[in-house]
Order: sequence, then structure tokens, then C-alpha cells
Amino acid sequence: MTSAFYPGSFDPVTYGHLDIIRRGAEIFDELIVAVLDNKAKTPLFSVEERVRMLENVTRDFPNVKIDSFSGLLIDYAAQKNIHVAIRGLRAITDFEYELQMAQLNRLLSKGKLDTMFLTTTLEYAYLSSSSVKEIAMFGGDISQCVPEQVAKVVYDRYHIAR
Ligand code: ADP
Repeated sequence: MTSAFYPGSFDPVTYGHLDIIRRGAEIFDELIVAVLDNKAKTPLFSVEERVRMLENVTRDFPNVKIDSFSGLLIDYAAQKNIHVAIRGLRAITDFEYELQMAQLNRLLSKGKLDTMFLTTTLEYAYLSSSSVKEIAMFGGDISQCVPEQVAKVVYDRYHIAR
């Protein structure tokens, strides 16, 4: 069985993430979406909330599992015995950071962890969790960016009634 994981913050999950999840799940037998508990960042949603949102929106994908991790990606990968990480590329701006991370992870894991990039579907190229939060914070419409149940949770967090 071939497994891969898709690490990220998912604060919150967007249609862009879901597109990468759907495509990753078609390539691999099992895809683990791994929510990073990054102590250096102050997310809008707790890891538990992000995991719950992801579980709700990936119900229709039987080979997708949701998990969380903290610390180094290579340690998590070694513990799970998984050798491929999937990442999404939206634009050139993503490339430099992603290339650096992929190369570092390969080096630190002594070649055991490779990164596979899926390029964004064009209609989601503009989408990011941070833009979703900015739009929602000011009461804007995020219905084209995130699934309905995610939009509700985001508006609730900002005490926006819509
Ligand atoms: P991180 O904090 O790890 O960058 P994100 O949750 O922002 O976490 O993103 C996780 C991954 O999903 C990254 O590889 C990112 O480039 C990718 N991604 C985010 N939004 C999109 C999108 N709209 N289309 C394709 N990939 C995306």
C-alpha cells in the first residue's frame, strides 16, 4: 500500500486544500492530512478544531485520514513510516519556500522523505487561509473559498452574523 501525507496549517481548510486532498487521494492508496501544531504561530483555530473541520469536509474520501503532529516533519514521517509528503504550489511565490523545505527535509531525513508537488487548479490559485480570514473578519463573502460548514465556524469565531 502506498501512503503519503499532506502536512499544513489548514487554519482553516479551503477549497484549494480540498482540491489537493482529492487529487492526492486519487494517486495514493492512503492520504493522511497532518495538521501542524506550530507553537511559533498563533492560529485562529486550535489543532482540535482544525482536525474536526477537516474530518467533516473529507467524509466522502474513504482513503483520507486526518491526524495532527508537532515538531519536525521528518520525525513524524519516520514514526508513521511514510516517505512522501504532498504540498500544493499556487504561484512562483510559493516556490522558493517550498523548494527550500523539500530539500531540507530530504537532507535531514537522509533521503527517506521526498516531497511531491501538485500545482493548484487555476480557479483556486488566489486562495489562501489568510485571505479567507481577512475577508471574513470584515463580514465579506467567503462562500466561494470554503465549504459551508467551515464558513459558519469562521464567521462565528469573528462574531459575524450572516
Ligand atoms: P502552511 O502553513 O504549511 O503553508 P497551509 O495550510 O497554508 O499551510 O498550506 C498547506 C499546503 O497547501 C501548502 O503546500 C500550500 O502551498 C498548499 N495550498 C494552500 N492553498 C492552496 C491552494 N489554493 N491551491 C493549492 N495549494 C494550496
